[in-house]
Amino acid sequence: MALTKEALQALVALQQKDKHLDAIQYEIDAVPPRIDALKADLENEKRHMNEAKARILELEKKKKTKELDVAAQDEAARKHSGQLNDLKSNDAYKAMQAEIEKEKAKAGDIETEILQIMEDIDAAKAVEKAATAEFKKTEEFSKKDLEKLEAELSHAKGRFETAKVDRDATEAAVAPSELKVYNHIRSRGKPDAVVPVINGHCGSCQINLTPGLILEVAKLKNLVTCDSCQRILYKPELLVPATAQ
Ligand SMILES: [Zn+2]
Repeated sequence: MALTKEALQALVALQQKDKHLDAIQYEIDAVPPRIDALKADLENEKRHMNEAKARILELEKKKKTKELDVAAQDEAARKHSGQLNDLKSNDAYKAMQAEIEKEKAKAGDIETEILQIMEDIDAAKAVEKAATAEFKKTEEFSKKDLEKLEAELSHAKGRFETAKVDRDATEAAVAPSELKVYNHIRSRGKPDAVVPVINGHCGSCQINLTPGLILEVAKLKNLVTCDSCQRILYKPELLVPATAQ
């Protein structure tokens, strides 16, 4: 099937519409990574908050253990004090007294440790409060941002569907043989499958085209492709409507 001016015009129009679709698809593809990033941020804040909560629990557990240690030392000192009067020898009495002093001193040391832990708990609570506030803030903001992104995505998808209907109508005007060449070029990572001849150069790869090839393009009889980049060539001035010349 011979090429006609109208057929080439249709191919150029199809490419414009495909580029428009590509641009919308690009917008659509950009949204999920942004949603993922928002969710990752929120997860991160949540992790900080949970770590801070866990830190408090850990310190409170440590405090409890120390309190039991103090109670055990106090209990031992009390028990030994009760046994003092039963001791017969002076040496044994003195040894027991020394033991009781050691137990009391130990209890005092642990009390000091408990005071430090209580300070640590206060500090950990301040960290937890800040982390929770940060999480709530991020949660609120990301909820709004997520809604915005979902709306953006839905809007872009709607535009894509409309543009696709328009594009498919244009495709119907292109001859199957030309469409096959066009689709083949695009499938090889060249979205600009149809390129103008500009000042004797290929509009895409810029190679200098031979006069013979340019003449072939001007004839509008067959699809002519660039020897270098294999894109379909056309002379834009031949496709401009007569009234616009
Ligand atoms: Zn080229």
